[in-house]
Amino acid sequence: MAILKKFNSIFAELNRKKEYSFMPWTNYHSHTYYCDGAEAPENYIKCAIDKGLPAYGYSSHAPINFESDWCISDEDFTRYITDIRTIKEKHKGEIQTYLGLEVDFIPGVAGRKKHLLEDIELDYFIGSIHFVDQFADGTHWNIDTSKELFNKGLSTIFNSDFKKAATRFYELTWQMLEEEKPDIIGHLDKIKMYNNGAAYFNESDRWYKDILLNTIRKIKQSGTIVEVNTRGYYRYGQEDLYPGDWLIEKMIQQDIPIMLNSDSHAPGEIISGYKYAANELKNMGLKYLWVLLDDNWQAKPFDMDGIRL
Ligand SMILES: [Zn+2]
Ligand SMILES: [Zn+2]
Repeated sequence: MAILKKFNSIFAELNRKKEYSFMPWTNYHSHTYYCDGAEAPENYIKCAIDKGLPAYGYSSHAPINFESDWCISDEDFTRYITDIRTIKEKHKGEIQTYLGLEVDFIPGVAGRKKHLLEDIELDYFIGSIHFVDQFADGTHWNIDTSKELFNKGLSTIFNSDFKKAATRFYELTWQMLEEEKPDIIGHLDKIKMYNNGAAYFNESDRWYKDILLNTIRKIKQSGTIVEVNTRGYYRYGQEDLYPGDWLIEKMIQQDIPIMLNSDSHAPGEIISGYKYAANELKNMGLKYLWVLLDDNWQAKPFDMDGIRL
């Protein structure tokens, strides 16, 4: 009897280990040398296969009809599409590859139906706001690239009124949700990018929380998946993930679909910050992460070591 018990416990332990080894991560937000990432797409998929990921998605910055720091050039766009489709075929026995784009939204200027994009068949797309209104000379204010540029836009377009700038950022987010219906919304509260130490505003101010609650209502209506994006945490040492804790907690209460993405710009970053983020999400009560597998979006349980498939 004792031997049988011992055998059973060894068997259970083996099973547990087996289960553990089948708990990989996924990532659908990544940038290669076609836009502002470091390396060729092939290097990312090799890394993903090495780490045991069941699926991997590319989301280069979609082309745009003005000069920008990060978008794919018109000339490279077709090559990007062909390259990812080739990778998809080449590695189909080892990993599921998905072709996506991160698409900027600027009303009347940039979006899924604009500039070269309408006829491209994608597996998914991430809708992101990186530009908020324009300077007097017509240049779009890019809130992402540097603190200097952030300050310049804030002072000249919004008269140094952060509340006005943030309100405009979220209005654009709402309009994007309604008009574009992205599969995923990228770095939902990016407007707080330079707000470490409450440098610009207090994130617990009532006006800001009201905007966030309104945003959650609109996300709920749209059915869009919200990514928890780890890049600010692992790359820039930010205190918070995108979105911040308060927003994530409210989204969990409202049953908003949530996924984990690294926004990797190099193969070594494809699952950076995941352990930290998963721990945070678990502690906040999140039970499922959304993944794109077998061409379907599905919710899967997870823990600090991975997603249970
Ligand atoms: Zn982005
Ligand atoms: Zn990105």
